[in-house]
Amino acid sequence: MARKFVISPTKLRTYLLCPAKYRLEYIDKLGRFYHRARAGYAFGHSLHRALDAFHNAGGTETVTAEDLTASLETVWVAKGYTDTEQETAFREEGVRILQEYHAASVAARSAAAEPEAPPPPTTLWTEKTLRMDLSPEIALSGRIDRVDEHADGSLEIVDYKSGRDTVNNEEVKDSLALSIYQILVKQKMPDRRVFATLVALRTGARASAELDETERAEIAAACHDTGEEIRNRDWESVLPVVNDHCPYCDFLPHCSRFWRKQAREQGVPPPDIAR
Ligand code: SF4
Repeated sequence: MARKFVISPTKLRTYLLCPAKYRLEYIDKLGRFYHRARAGYAFGHSLHRALDAFHNAGGTETVTAEDLTASLETVWVAKGYTDTEQETAFREEGVRILQEYHAASVAARSAAAEPEAPPPPTTLWTEKTLRMDLSPEIALSGRIDRVDEHADGSLEIVDYKSGRDTVNNEEVKDSLALSIYQILVKQKMPDRRVFATLVALRTGARASAELDETERAEIAAACHDTGEEIRNRDWESVLPVVNDHCPYCDFLPHCSRFWRKQAREQGVPPPDIAR
């Protein structure tokens, strides 16, 4: 049986951002030559790993604030910082974030211990990959930071944002990744209420939203259609076209060479894209 074409939030986002980027990343597989380590990614990855271990170990019931902050050392990703000074500043910020995260978790547990308060949610999954078939040819897959189970049986998808101070309900509602996670969790546990929450780790700010059945069906259909488009695209004809994402794109050196060659052939000046 032929293998299914698997799409994910990252693949869809890349394609929708720039088809040429999708080609370079997933068809030509040139990413290893162009991807640059970045402080923000390394920092976010380190915090994700520390929080993953914290929740897997039982959260505040078993892990002290000191243990949590000390765990950052074990999982720290050192690549991507410009110098030791920058890395130290990020590390100190990471410790502060984890201390406050732990304190907020303790406060939530205390509040839940009050008479008639609902029990606190329990962590059902961390770093969980879910997958579902959209058609005989296409599957949808996503890796979820965390899913909490509430006392009423509802499931809360929790997604961490390490570089953000604020989040709002609209962006949860508009997030393609969080929408896909809701579709995947709901498909696995259809009798449960499923909603999604973004957590801005720098401040602890949270925002939530929930898709209804119609919205989930529409988004799943759109994912399928985009997946079909990607699957059937004539990739040889997909060439770099200047767009708003170019200044932030790791493939800019590659595309700039293409544009310089194209400009020489056409006798016009090449595009000037400042990072
Ligand atoms: S540099 Fe621009 S055109 Fe090239 S892959 Fe990146 S976003 Fe696409």
